[in-house]
Amino acid sequence: MERYYFDHNATTPVAPAVIDAMLPVFRDGFGNASSIHQPGQQAKQALEKARRQTAAFLNCSPKEIVFTSGGTEADNLAILGVPRGHIVTTNIEHPAILGACRDLDVTYLEADSHGVIQPRTLRDALRPSTVLVSVMHANNELGTVQDIEAFAAIAHDNGALFHSDGVQAAGKISINLKNIDLYSISGHKLNAPKGIGALYVRQGVELHPRQFGGRHESGRRAGTENVPGAVALGAACEMPRENVGMLTQRLETGILAKVPQTIVNGANAPRGPNTTNIRFAGIEGEAMVIALDLRGFAVSSGAACSSGAVEPSHVLTAIGLTREEAKASIRFSLGMGNTIEQVDALIDAVVASAAHLRRLSPVYA
Ligand code: PLP
Repeated sequence: MERYYFDHNATTPVAPAVIDAMLPVFRDGFGNASSIHQPGQQAKQALEKARRQTAAFLNCSPKEIVFTSGGTEADNLAILGVPRGHIVTTNIEHPAILGACRDLDVTYLEADSHGVIQPRTLRDALRPSTVLVSVMHANNELGTVQDIEAFAAIAHDNGALFHSDGVQAAGKISINLKNIDLYSISGHKLNAPKGIGALYVRQGVELHPRQFGGRHESGRRAGTENVPGAVALGAACEMPRENVGMLTQRLETGILAKVPQTIVNGANAPRGPNTTNIRFAGIEGEAMVIALDLRGFAVSSGAACSSGAVEPSHVLTAIGLTREEAKASIRFSLGMGNTIEQVDALIDAVVASAAHLRRLSPVYA
């Protein structure tokens, strides 16, 4: 059976060009980038080239790139590495932000029913003690895009720093870091492997390391650098990217037209080109994920298994969906390798699976 992947917001396949760039470093470039001998200096050169490539992608200076182990660490470092004080963030952030904020003095801005955080709500949340505002760029579940420049301007008016979690934006929408102080990206959402990410730290921003060790990454992130990972991220940053917007649109329109009682969550918000999150009345999302998997399609549901119980996504309940509606939602996220033929085959599989599951559903029958 052919297998088609429509879960690129969970993770992406590593691109062949990225593997080609990374393999020689794995094979021969084992040196420690902090060593002064030849193998060490070769590793250092590879690391610095990757830093330049990542910086070029974000249109910033290489000095402003701190390599991390991924998006989670970049987010944690942004929240916990700035001087302590009041923080403003949102109720639709990734757990990497929400968890880092848990024991801090935090105000949460609330998304509206479209999945948009209105920048004006920030004004009321700011205090003289606010040190940082963190608003994600593109949401991982809905694909909704926030006006981060507007948030940054308001934060700066109040003397606060501005961070954005750009893990789901990088490679999908354009990024302008001109007024942004901190920005997180993750390799494995960009066709590089897992275990590498970066935090952009604007020159002059005071950032303290969160883990203790050597003075790697200019004293901002301790730990021997993952050189093959960084090389992979650098290569992924240089890759030309196809726009999958047309395919996502075709998928969304096809499902809405052919499956009755379907609604797009966050339909009226500005959205990135690769994500559509669709609610299927009367269907358990997990059952749909399994039904589609059996037909060869990988998608994701609006629920996550936490401690053995299937819990509805906090993002979907934050925009006003009931637990049942959230659990009846499926996220389709497109990326490298998806084709029109795959999209059309997925629409057919969704039509068949929805009809089958509804026949079995006590709610719907
Ligand atoms: N932020 C967002 C918006 C994400 O979607 C993810 C991963 O799903 C992360 C942060 C965490 O990134 P990583 O998996 O690289 O730790």
